[in-house]
Amino acid sequence: MCCRTLLLTWAGVLGASAQNLPKDGPLTIRPMLQQLGERLLKGKTGSVVAINPANGEILCLATNSPQGSDVRQAIGRPQAPGSTFKTAQALTLLSEGVITPQTTVACVDGVTDGNIKVRCHKHPSPLALKEALAQSCNTWFLMTFASMINDDFMYESKDEAITTWRSYMQSMGLGGPMHIDIEGEQGGLLAGADYLNRRYKNGWDGKTIWWTGMGQGDVTCTPLQLCNLAVTIANRGWYYIPHIHQNTTNNRYLTKRQTKVKAEAYGTVIEGMRMAVEKGTATCIKTSYPICGKTGTIENPGADNSAFIGFAPKDNPKIAVSVYVDHGGFGADLAAPMAGLIIELYLKGKLSAASEARAKSISKRKIP
Ligand SMILES: [Zn+2]
Repeated sequence: MCCRTLLLTWAGVLGASAQNLPKDGPLTIRPMLQQLGERLLKGKTGSVVAINPANGEILCLATNSPQGSDVRQAIGRPQAPGSTFKTAQALTLLSEGVITPQTTVACVDGVTDGNIKVRCHKHPSPLALKEALAQSCNTWFLMTFASMINDDFMYESKDEAITTWRSYMQSMGLGGPMHIDIEGEQGGLLAGADYLNRRYKNGWDGKTIWWTGMGQGDVTCTPLQLCNLAVTIANRGWYYIPHIHQNTTNNRYLTKRQTKVKAEAYGTVIEGMRMAVEKGTATCIKTSYPICGKTGTIENPGADNSAFIGFAPKDNPKIAVSVYVDHGGFGADLAAPMAGLIIELYLKGKLSAASEARAKSISKRKIP
C-alpha cells in the first residue's frame, strides 16, 4: 500500500482538499489515508494527522471546518492537548527521577485543593504509572507535576524547576513552531518562568499550574505536534522534523533529533499506552494490532474536544497518528476509533467489513 504509483496519483484523487496542501509536489501524502481521514471528518471540525516514524514523512493531513478543508486545523491552531499530554508528563518526570514506574497515587473520584475539585473517572485506587496512563487518572498527573515543581530539594527555585520541565517538552518538539515545510505553521505555548512570573504577579507554585499536568491551562500544541510526540514515543526518543515534500534534500528534514528523555523511561510509558488500548480508556479501538495510544478529553466551552495519539505496531512502529475533533466528546468516543481505522488501513491496505461499517457510521455523525 505504500507503493509509488499511489503517491504519483495523489493530486488527482484528493480533489478539492489538495488546495489546502502545497502544490509543488510530489508529496509524501498517502491518498488512501487522506481520503479516509477526510471521510471520517465529514460534518466535524478537526484533523487527522499521520506520520511515518522512520523518516518524518507526513502520510495524512486531513482537515475539516465549517468552511471546508483547512490545513490550519492541523498545523496553525494550537489547542489544549488534554490527557494525551500525560505521556509527555510521564516521560519528563521519570527522566528527572521525580517518579518511578512504581510510584502510586491514591484517587477516589478526583482530588480537592481548597475550593477546587478536579474530577476523575471511576477506577481502582491507588494506581501506579502504567495503570494511571491506561485509566487517564487526573489526580495522578496533577499531584506528580505539582510535586516536581515544588521540589525544593531537587531544584533551587520554582523557576529552575519549570525551566527544566520546559526543556524536556521542547526536546519533544513542543512549545514553538517545528518549521515544517508547509506555510501557516504555529507552535503552541509551554509555560516558562518568564511567562508564569508575568501571568501570576502574586506568585505561583506547582499547585497554581497543576492543570498543566493533565494538558490543560498553560500548555497548547497543534495536532501536528501531538502526532510528532507520538513519533518520539514510537521511536523511543528520536524524530525527524515532519515534512510533506517527497525526496527533500533539505538537511533540516534529514537530521535525526534526540529528545532529552532517558531511554529507559519509554518502556513504561509505551506499556501504559498499550494498556490504555487493551483495557483502559481506549478499548473502543477494536483491533488485533498491537496499537499503543492515549486518549484526551479536553474541557472546553460547550461540549468537550475529543483527542487521541497513538502508534502501531508497538515494536518496529510503522505509523503514528493524532486525531483532534472539536466538541467530539470523550477521546474514546470519536478520536480513538478514527485513529484505529487510519492505522488499520495503513497496516492492512484495506478495512475489514466491521471497520468499514464503523467508518461509515462515524462519517455520518455531524457535530455542530
Ligand atoms: Zn483518578
